[in-house]
Amino acid sequence: MHATREHVVGLFQSALGIEEPWYVSEYQFDSESGRLGLNIDFRKGSRFICPVCGAEGAEPYDTKERTWRHLNFFQHQTSLTARIPRVQCIAPSCGMVKTVNPPWAAQGSHFTMLFEAFIMVLAAEMPVKAIADMVGEYDQRIWKIIDRNVEEALAKEDYSNVAQIGIDETSSKRGHNYITVVVDLDQRKAIFATEGKDASTVDRFADHLIKHKGDPKNIKAVSSDMSLAFISGITKNFPDADLVFDRFHIMKLMGDAVDNVRREESKETDALKKTRYLWLSNPKNLNADQTEKLSSLTKLNLKTARAYRLKLALAEFFEQEDYSSAEAHLKSWYYWATHSRLEPIIKAAKTIKKHWEGVMAWYIKPINNGILEGFNSLIQAAKARARGYRTTKNLITMVYLVAGKLNFDLERVYLEAMQKASKPASTA
Ligand SMILES: [Zn+2]
Repeated sequence: MHATREHVVGLFQSALGIEEPWYVSEYQFDSESGRLGLNIDFRKGSRFICPVCGAEGAEPYDTKERTWRHLNFFQHQTSLTARIPRVQCIAPSCGMVKTVNPPWAAQGSHFTMLFEAFIMVLAAEMPVKAIADMVGEYDQRIWKIIDRNVEEALAKEDYSNVAQIGIDETSSKRGHNYITVVVDLDQRKAIFATEGKDASTVDRFADHLIKHKGDPKNIKAVSSDMSLAFISGITKNFPDADLVFDRFHIMKLMGDAVDNVRREESKETDALKKTRYLWLSNPKNLNADQTEKLSSLTKLNLKTARAYRLKLALAEFFEQEDYSSAEAHLKSWYYWATHSRLEPIIKAAKTIKKHWEGVMAWYIKPINNGILEGFNSLIQAAKARARGYRTTKNLITMVYLVAGKLNFDLERVYLEAMQKASKPASTA
């Protein structure tokens, strides 16, 4: 069977999903470079919707040729070229002359929406550099697509129902730069990410919240670590919120204290060499050998073993029946810890005493940053993706992309196109 040129044009047209008055007028295939070029035109006598006021019947005034990168057809790099009209509005109240926005591309983009949709689908899964190599574009151009789509989706976010948040920091480049991430604990999604870990990060979040219809007075509870920067930022911006210190951070504080005791003691006790993991792990996560080794170590008269028992006792604070039994538990724990004669433990106990209200607040609002810990693995993967383009801005974009649960119009664009493509071609 011999396909006519007209037939091929028709196939491209239905594959592109381009609709009247637009049509595929011509194509060129360069067999040397393997590139495919599709020309799109509009029918003579077509009228358009005015891009300014939306009135129908706007008349072409003049045209300008533009080109967009499209999805590959099979392995062939494909571009669309079209003459895009400026149109004159016929509504007397408007009368503007303005360039039409073609339906296949976002304003100002060099790529078709379908190409951008494809990039966004990939970006949630694979490194930007790999995407760039795969589609044969510079990674800066891919980042630009991702940035713009994330910004557009973010602009539409509505935070009027945000009431409980978690705040935490994560490092961007091997501990050199920090970003602070804010999570909506009810929707379980990242709603803000910004450079730094000082009190001003919370100021910037409050501005962001207000800009997205949120109200600082609606924020009833905030989970964070015990850093003075976050505490001052939260009490200043969210005076009505209960500040709840995150249990993971409280236990980390205690874990670090146990480790300091172990490090000091291991200078004189060989039995403690290579045991760090045993003391720091959740006992549930140890295998049989490790459990046995830990149990025999705890039978020795070690300072580290005493510190470890205090850590387990602090963990039990989070398992109490109610506020008053929890407070009684914490008080006796504090007495025990401060009389342990273990400097790092005494120091940790005093930190907890200093933040007593916020530690106890867990029994008023049992919120924690567990979801942020979960995001952390996603964010770590995003860091790997941001590598090779090492800016904090890229990391922030990735946080929104992987943990922001944003609504991308492009996903709809992509699915619709796929649906159209799977329909049998019309025989018209
Ligand atoms: Zn108009």
